Amino acid sequence: MANIYIAGVPFDAHSSYLRGPALAPPHIRQAFFSPSGNMCTELGIELDETPGWIMGEDWPEKLEYQQISNYTSTLLDQGYTPLLLGGDHSITFPIARAIYGRYGPFNLLHIDAHGDLYHELDGNPFSHGCPFARIMEAGYARRLVQLGLRCMTTHQRAQAKKWGVECHEMKDWSGQLHLEWDGPLYLSLDMDALDPAFVPGVSHREPGGLTTREVIRLIHQLSVPILGADIVELNPLQDPSGMSAMVAARLMKELLGRMLMLR
Ligand code: MN
Ligand code: MN
Repeated sequence: MANIYIAGVPFDAHSSYLRGPALAPPHIRQAFFSPSGNMCTELGIELDETPGWIMGEDWPEKLEYQQISNYTSTLLDQGYTPLLLGGDHSITFPIARAIYGRYGPFNLLHIDAHGDLYHELDGNPFSHGCPFARIMEAGYARRLVQLGLRCMTTHQRAQAKKWGVECHEMKDWSGQLHLEWDGPLYLSLDMDALDPAFVPGVSHREPGGLTTREVIRLIHQLSVPILGADIVELNPLQDPSGMSAMVAARLMKELLGRMLMLR
């Protein structure tokens, strides 16, 4: 059984609007270990008594893309399942390259207000608005399901159609979704998928999003092994109360517990 390795990726050089997500990993870690709560997940996993996971440190700042892939590949080669804390969403492309290198084309569940399917944004093909375009054109994902969407443009709809992306938009959201997967998946969770009423601490506040409870339910309903995961786009500069970091830590905790159950 693969151990889960949590690491921070302090990278936000490809953010299009505000910087700050590079600062997020220590905030999520601090909230996770806060003495205000305990270490038991809702599904009953006592994390402090359960082996199989390691809280690692942050990777160096200002990594090149290839280095992010290499760090991820090293974890995979050592038998770890990566659970990575961004950072902006651009990191998912180099991470996905490593996941593909290990497992071949994989299932990808992407929870986000945005499709992140732009061919390029502000002239940057590696912007945090583009990782899922790069992943799909490289053939890393054999299936991409997106949830939480509420900012789709005509261009991004065309991109989604081109690659057969399964887009579940908030305008059609009924509060629940049962997804069937034919095998393991990678989960990419952008914190702006949640409504800014729950998570104001993001660079792009998009009203009309998911509740904390709905995202926890989606995590609990995962029923196939997880190849890896990232939680990205928390912006501590937009989160003076630390409340959004607490939500990110809660989602990480429930995801970690669920990943341990599904190994
Ligand atoms: Mn995103
Ligand atoms: Mn987003």
